[in-house]
Amino acid sequence: MTIRNYLKPRSLQEMLEAKRKHPKSKFVAGGTLVVKSNYPDIDTLIDIQDLGLNRIRITDEEYGIGSFTTFTSIMESDIDCCGDLMKKFARHIGPVTIRNVATIGGNVMSGFNWNDTLPPLLLMEAKLVFEGMEGRRETGIEAFIENRTLFKDMLLYEVIIPRKDVGKVYYSRFSRTEDDIPTSIVAAHKDGGKVRIACGASVLKPFVKSIAADQAESLGIDPGVKYIDDLRGNAEFKRKILLASLKEIKEWAHEN
Ligand SMILES: Cc1cc2nc3c(=O)[nH]c(=O)nc-3n(C[C@H](O)[C@H](O)[C@H](O)COP(=O)(O)OP(=O)(O)OC[C@H]3O[C@@H](n4cnc5c(N)ncnc54)[C@H](O)[C@@H]3O)c2cc1C
Repeated sequence: MTIRNYLKPRSLQEMLEAKRKHPKSKFVAGGTLVVKSNYPDIDTLIDIQDLGLNRIRITDEEYGIGSFTTFTSIMESDIDCCGDLMKKFARHIGPVTIRNVATIGGNVMSGFNWNDTLPPLLLMEAKLVFEGMEGRRETGIEAFIENRTLFKDMLLYEVIIPRKDVGKVYYSRFSRTEDDIPTSIVAAHKDGGKVRIACGASVLKPFVKSIAADQAESLGIDPGVKYIDDLRGNAEFKRKILLASLKEIKEWAHEN
C-alpha cells in the first residue's frame, strides 16, 4: 500500500469532501488493522479521530456509542445492558495495548467473521448509523452483516444499543490463547419460552436465532450454517466447539 495523502477532517462535512475528492481512500480509526493490511488500490487514508466520535451517549432508551470509542473506554464506561455483556466482550479484544486504541467502529467495519463485536451486537439488537454521500442511514446489525458491501464507502458514525432488561446472559469465547482472536463466540439470553442465541467466529456468517432451549444443539448441525477451515482449526473442529457451547446453553437455560 502506497499512501500519498493522509487527511484529518475536523467535521463530517470535511470528511465527506475528502471522500468525494479521494475515492481510493480508506478510513483509519485506531489503525490496528489498517497498518497491518495491504490495500493495493488505496492511496489515501482519512483519519477520523477529530470527528468527536469517542463518546458514549446515554438516554433512557439507548446507548449511542460513537464509532471512535475504544474498547478500554467501553470497559470503563457506565454502560450497563444485557448483564455486563458489553464489558465482557470488550475485555477479550487483543492485549491491553490494542484495547487502548482499537475502536468499536474499526471492529465492526473490518469485515471478518471472527470480529468479537458481532455476536454480542446481534444479541443486543444493535443498530448502526452511517454517514455517506447520500446522507445519514440507519440499519440493524443483522441486515448489515447480510449486505456489508452496501456500506463499504460510508462512515460508521454510531452504534446504538437499545436498553432492555433481558435477565441473565450467557457468554462463551474460545480462543487458542488469552490474547488470540476468537475461534468461537456464543452469547445468549432467555427470550420468553425460548433462548435467543448469537454465534460467531466459528461460522462463515455470524447469526442470531431464537430457539427452544432443548433444541439449541440443532443450530450447530443446521445445514445452512457453514463453518470455516483456517489456521485455527478445520470446519469439523469449529462445529464441535460450537456444539459444546450450545449444549452448555441448554443446561444453562434450565438452571437460570
Ligand atoms: C495484536 C492484535 C490482536 C487483535 N485481537 C483482536 C481480537 O481479539 N478480537 C478482534 O475482534 N479483533 C482483534 N484484532 C483486530 C483489530 O484490532 C480490531 O478489529 C479493532 O477493533 C479494529 O479497530 P481499529 O480502530 O484499530 O480499526 P482500523 O485499523 O483503524 O480500521 C479497520 C477497518 O475499519 C475501517 N473503519 C474504521 N473505522 C471506521 C468507521 N468509523 N467507519 C467506516 N469504516 C471504518 C477502516 O477503513 C478499516 O478498513 C487484533 C489486532 C491486533 C493487531
